[in-house]
Amino acid sequence: MSEAAERRYDVVIIGSGAGGGTVAQELAPLVRDGRRVVVLEKGPRLGDAEFTGRELEMAAALYADTGGFLTADGTMTLAFASVYGGSTVVYTGTSLTAPERVIRRWSVPGLDHADIVTRSERFAAQNGVHLLEDSLINDNNRLFVEGGRKAGFRVEQFPVNVQGCRGSSLCNLGCPNQAKQGTNRVQLPRAEREGVASGRRGSIGSGRGPWCARLARSGRPPCCSGPPSRLACRSSATVSPVTPRSFS
Ligand SMILES: Cc1cc2nc3c(=O)[nH]c(=O)nc-3n(C[C@H](O)[C@H](O)[C@H](O)COP(=O)(O)OP(=O)(O)OC[C@H]3O[C@@H](n4cnc5c(N)ncnc54)[C@H](O)[C@@H]3O)c2cc1C
Repeated sequence: MSEAAERRYDVVIIGSGAGGGTVAQELAPLVRDGRRVVVLEKGPRLGDAEFTGRELEMAAALYADTGGFLTADGTMTLAFASVYGGSTVVYTGTSLTAPERVIRRWSVPGLDHADIVTRSERFAAQNGVHLLEDSLINDNNRLFVEGGRKAGFRVEQFPVNVQGCRGSSLCNLGCPNQAKQGTNRVQLPRAEREGVASGRRGSIGSGRGPWCARLARSGRPPCCSGPPSRLACRSSATVSPVTPRSFS
């Protein structure tokens, strides 16, 4: 990589999903203070027209190992996305706040349920979380509700993060109508408007420190240069120039 192509950052966020995308938005104000922040995503960034809703095409484009990532012991496959926006591109959209009893059971010092509720409300509003209107409930679900109630169950609707849903039922293949409000449509564009950069791929080929060691295990070709220990220890790295597609 030429000297001119190198860029230095103060904060490097690995992954652009629910976690990384949200952190990018929250750290975006640092850019105003002169800090350089970048999100590195190893999956592609697709344009709206590339969300075709066709199963084979979208499984290959959006999911890690086409949705059949095999665990190391070979006993189970996992489905998760590898794309700009991470799994928020393929998730169903059900948007719930962790209940108090769950947070209490986690028993994480400093993690307070009341604080989580306040934050969840803010993100729910940002991502358009709401209950779908009756006209969008399809026959499967209508029958499910009817049957459940007749059988004496309490049946409730899950709130979802969609805007302009047209009932395609293709949520897990990436909404072809751009209705689902994942980080690719909400938090990442906001972060980019504030000056956060985004780049394709963030795997580091070698290096020291726990973070580098974890990334190196992915076995992908390295795209970042510079002493990786800096990435682990001082949150400063040299990354490759972004491909044009990363900014499409
Ligand atoms: C099919 C499906 C349906 C789901 N439905 C729901 C639902 O309805 N409601 C709900 O609450 N949750 C749902 N989930 C779960 C939810 O999507 C995840 O819990 C959440 O997205 C996890 O956030 P994350 O940031 O940890 O990971 P992700 O959102 O998966 O993002 C991780 C990103 O990091 C990238 N990455 C990983 N390693 C590297 C690297 N070394 N360099 C660069 N980039 C890297 C990946 O490519 C990926 O894009 C669903 C998940 C799936 C797969």
